[in-house]
Amino acid sequence: MTIKLKKCKCGKEFKQYNSLQNKCPNCQFKEYYCRKPKSKPLLKLKIGAKRRSNTDNKKNKKLAWKWFSQYIRLRDCLKTTKSKNFGRCYTCDRIKPFKELQAGHLISGRTNAVLLDEEIVKVQCHRCNIELGGNYTEYTIRMINEKGIKWVQSKQDLKHISVKKNWKEEIEIWKDKYFILLYGKNKKLPF
Ligand SMILES: [Zn+2]
Ligand SMILES: [Zn+2]
Repeated sequence: MTIKLKKCKCGKEFKQYNSLQNKCPNCQFKEYYCRKPKSKPLLKLKIGAKRRSNTDNKKNKKLAWKWFSQYIRLRDCLKTTKSKNFGRCYTCDRIKPFKELQAGHLISGRTNAVLLDEEIVKVQCHRCNIELGGNYTEYTIRMINEKGIKWVQSKQDLKHISVKKNWKEEIEIWKDKYFILLYGKNKKLPF
């Protein structure tokens, strides 16, 4: 596997494992732990605000998924290989580099209630997630063995429940979980 070297705004070069990573680990860490507290946005009542908030909503949902997927991949890499760079596909056991892994669902459809449920999303290889359309049979068998049929059934039922999500909040939740896995809770520079 070849890993691209990318230049950070501070001038340092770093290995880029995925496209969300646009700063060196040092800058990323500083930015994450030295964030200013968020201020609440003022209520907007302008014409067109609703349409704008719809596209914002879509953008935020996409970004929330990106951070969620990032977290799932790191979580399962650590769980399956104890390394941050490689992970084992849940449905075929092949070991692949982080970059080639995807976050795959037990349940098809990706409705709001199941999209970011970390209990039913695991790393899969491209073959299982895309070419085999999610490899649902294998996925379901393995989850039943792990959690029991009742648990899997209750998750299947979630799919049809309609849920509203605050995607902006979800971005922060999964970003936090990702960085805690990456650096730990310790706010001292790890380098
Ligand atoms: Zn940097
Ligand atoms: Zn696979």
